[in-house]
Amino acid sequence: MAGEWGHTPLPWPRPDELPGIDCWCGRRNCLELWLSGTGFARDAGRPAEDVVARPDAAGDAALARYVDRLGRALGVVADILDTDVIVLGGGLSNLDLLYDRLPAAIAPHVFSDVFDTPVRRALHGDSSGVRGAAWLWPLDR
Ligand SMILES: [Zn+2]
Repeated sequence: MAGEWGHTPLPWPRPDELPGIDCWCGRRNCLELWLSGTGFARDAGRPAEDVVARPDAAGDAALARYVDRLGRALGVVADILDTDVIVLGGGLSNLDLLYDRLPAAIAPHVFSDVFDTPVRRALHGDSSGVRGAAWLWPLDR
């Protein structure tokens, strides 16, 4: 189950994120509940596409909460893996603002005085995860 990051808990939860949300996996406050498109829409009260298309103060606040949560979560990943680059996939990776705002949101949660890991969009777009999974399928079947 290595890489099942979505079912690890949201790190450093804020008071309004507690006691948390029950996840279908049986745990509570899994990242997927906060960082997926569905999770964003639950928090914002509308889908991310709508927040971007019809900007307002409530939508901006939802985007800020999203960036903060993703920054906390990726800070943990950076501490464990110290990657050369962070590549985002999935539908919300289409949010252009992530690539500007995330490094500053990750940095305070990394156990280092320096965080200069670039955050990039997946080369093959928001379906790169599915594409990668397909490449794992044996060709001799
Ligand atoms: Zn879960």
